[in-house]
Amino acid sequence: MNDINKIAHLTIDLARKVYGNDFIPLHRPVFEGNEKKYLIDCIDSNFVSSVGKRVNEFEDMICNFTGAKYAIATVNGTTALHIAIVLSDVSAEDEVITQPLTFVATCNAISYAGARPIFVDVDKDTLGMSPKSLKEFLEKNAIKRGNFVYNKNTGNKISACIPMHTFGFPCRIKEISHICKDWGLPIIEDAAESLGSFVKDIHTGNFGDIGTLSFNGNKLITSGGGGMIITNDQSLAKKAKHITTTAKIPHDFEFVHDMVGYNYRMPNINAALGCAQMECINEMIENKNKISLEWKNLFSNLNIKFVETDAENKINTWLNTIILGSKKERDAFLQITNDHGVMTRPIWRLMPKLEMYKDCETFNIHNSEWLEERVVNLPSSVP
Ligand SMILES: *Cc1c(COP(=O)(O)O)cnc(C)c1O
Repeated sequence: MNDINKIAHLTIDLARKVYGNDFIPLHRPVFEGNEKKYLIDCIDSNFVSSVGKRVNEFEDMICNFTGAKYAIATVNGTTALHIAIVLSDVSAEDEVITQPLTFVATCNAISYAGARPIFVDVDKDTLGMSPKSLKEFLEKNAIKRGNFVYNKNTGNKISACIPMHTFGFPCRIKEISHICKDWGLPIIEDAAESLGSFVKDIHTGNFGDIGTLSFNGNKLITSGGGGMIITNDQSLAKKAKHITTTAKIPHDFEFVHDMVGYNYRMPNINAALGCAQMECINEMIENKNKISLEWKNLFSNLNIKFVETDAENKINTWLNTIILGSKKERDAFLQITNDHGVMTRPIWRLMPKLEMYKDCETFNIHNSEWLEERVVNLPSSVP
């Protein structure tokens, strides 16, 4: 048994030392670069909407930073996922494998395509999809016919796999990628939380066929609202640009659209903010890594599990994460810290426990259930 009262108060003390006496949120955006300048320039230029040079510039900056060949900016991370799923040839009634521990957007995007999630387990150390669980699920429940994979239980096609890099900690994406290649399943990497996280030297989002990012206000950097599709496949990139811009055929004055497209292009004014944020991203990550180290020292001394990644990876330390001994300890810790104006929060309710996903197939999700009761995020902003 941990002395949770003592642990909570040491957490509050360190949070106060780092962040001062006001209410301490989990993650706040930082605007200390060219944000205001670029926003004013954007308004002065009249190009505040879905046409404008900042959108292309933001895409180029993301390509440079992540090493992805192509990037397509969207209005948010959920729409980026939606398009990634559509472009992976997921059809209505299909099934898509993902993890029960994720933000609801992952599953909602699957639903927008008319498909249903299947939940395989996560690993306890990475908090992300477990390759072992994925492999076992496929070997036990899936069958390959022609170029496609089918679920033996439901008869439906399984058409993609979406692992997610929880809180910026990379999942075992290389192993997952090998398994999916063996089965011929496209991978969409939900990298919404892992901008700035690399597996060895490769940025997350580059292991799958398509990766998706988010620039929501609580993420590492923000464009107000925004998302990005990244890929190294030229044909997918072209399709993504076309379908997110109402599928309009380029022409000087005529309006001709060749399919049902989406109005998902990021507005220039959001991209202006995004560009200014990208100029500071490395500094942001460095500063966050320093704070993470303070949390790590505290919890290592207390013998509390502080979530880390393999030494060969680099991470964004978006949200610092601990694993407490039990649900009871977690609840007490959350209560004490939040009562003292230090925001901490539990991990998400598991997706198959939500009303709309409760009938979806789950495959031995013991690690997810174990983590759901114990994981807590700590304040992680740059002060
Ligand atoms: C934030 C997030 C998204 C969606 O991003 P929005 O920009 O808020 O639509 C998707 N998946 C995960 C795991 C996220 O954390």
